[in-house]
Amino acid sequence: AAAQSRYVANNPLSKKQHELAVESLPGGNTRTLLHTSPFPLCMKHGKGTFVWDEDGHKYTDFVGELSAGLYGHSHPVIRTAILSTFDEIGLSLGSTTTYEARYASLLCQRFKLERVRMTNTGTEANLHALAAARHYTGKKKVVVFNGGYHGACFSFGGGKAAPNTADKGDFVVVQNYGDDEAAAEARRVIEETAREGDLAAVLVEGMQGAGGCLPGSKEFLLAAQEAAKNTGAVFILDEVMTSRLAPNGLGQELGLSPDLVTLGKYLGGGFSFGAFGGRKEIMDSVYDPRVKGSLAHSGTFNNNTMTMCAGFAGLNQVFTEEVCVELNRVGDDLRGRLNRLAKGTRLRFTGRGSLIGLHFRENGTFESQEKADLRNLFWFEMLEEGFWITRRGFIAMILDTPKDELDRFVDAVGRFLERHTGIM
Ligand code: PLP
Repeated sequence: AAAQSRYVANNPLSKKQHELAVESLPGGNTRTLLHTSPFPLCMKHGKGTFVWDEDGHKYTDFVGELSAGLYGHSHPVIRTAILSTFDEIGLSLGSTTTYEARYASLLCQRFKLERVRMTNTGTEANLHALAAARHYTGKKKVVVFNGGYHGACFSFGGGKAAPNTADKGDFVVVQNYGDDEAAAEARRVIEETAREGDLAAVLVEGMQGAGGCLPGSKEFLLAAQEAAKNTGAVFILDEVMTSRLAPNGLGQELGLSPDLVTLGKYLGGGFSFGAFGGRKEIMDSVYDPRVKGSLAHSGTFNNNTMTMCAGFAGLNQVFTEEVCVELNRVGDDLRGRLNRLAKGTRLRFTGRGSLIGLHFRENGTFESQEKADLRNLFWFEMLEEGFWITRRGFIAMILDTPKDELDRFVDAVGRFLERHTGIM
């Protein structure tokens, strides 16, 4: 309560902005995730790896737009790509373009896809991957995993399909994720569903991102893949969040060979983006308009020049395979330091590479009523220390975050643990 009172006192302009916003936006925002009580912090601008709020406080940006903000704010290469596109190419040409084919080729090469199609969001990418799997197999059901998040209408927390999940009844949710127990359950559920005769796809993340940065083991993912392939279901790996974790995506790193992969986030160079692709046998038979009976794939902005050029410049010039390896090494190092610091307390840092999740444990498990209060306390106090992280405790590192800021964060977490030893 004390931390919250200080937050209210320190942020009068964010409060005022919220009062204005609720008059036109339900709850004052257009992304539920950003809802904060009594009001969310309102950011004014960002530069490099920092952001500033309406009241003028400066923060190191650890939200990294939930992994879409990999390049930080106004990265010079992205800036040049955007300005030259605007000045010399134009925004939307209403035709196919070389920029679209050029980026598709780079995405295929980098993520080992035979074919790819662009969309506007990761949600849409999953929507189309599922449509492709259904069209290809002539079947309907999809096996997913508890805690999985595949976009605005594909959320499977609490062991069920969320109320806004598309075709809720078509999803079969495996209750466990990530470990040996989950592997056995995944096999059983996939085989049972296939036996009923209507299984189209298995959709899984290599690491659950929104679910708390919980990596799936290689054995678990291989088991899910094998069961899917043995039953003739399409194995879809959702790499919207995880493609940044290894030079060719997390799936390649783990030795998986998914039929389809979905992509998004930073690959739009900071603009809205999604993509899905994989085996040409599936992609061509479903989406090639020269094939009789193929599916239509529409989307006004699918190949907009800004995204095609900013995304290409970012992946080609900035987030090279070497830079990817180094960023994730820095992330692993940071997570290791944080976990050593938090040893013997309730605080744990999960994730992989440059994506970090923080959890307060209760009786040895990650879930508890109290964890929300502790997360709030952590959030308010990290703001005071000058760190912008998500309320749910998710950190997506931005390229080139100064080492001093990482050290400062470790110190700030240390101070948090010391201040609250009684409840840790
Ligand atoms: N899939 C995963 C694994 C995600 O983390 C997200 C977004 O967080 C999505 C899909 C949806 O992407 P978008 O928000 O661009 O629709």
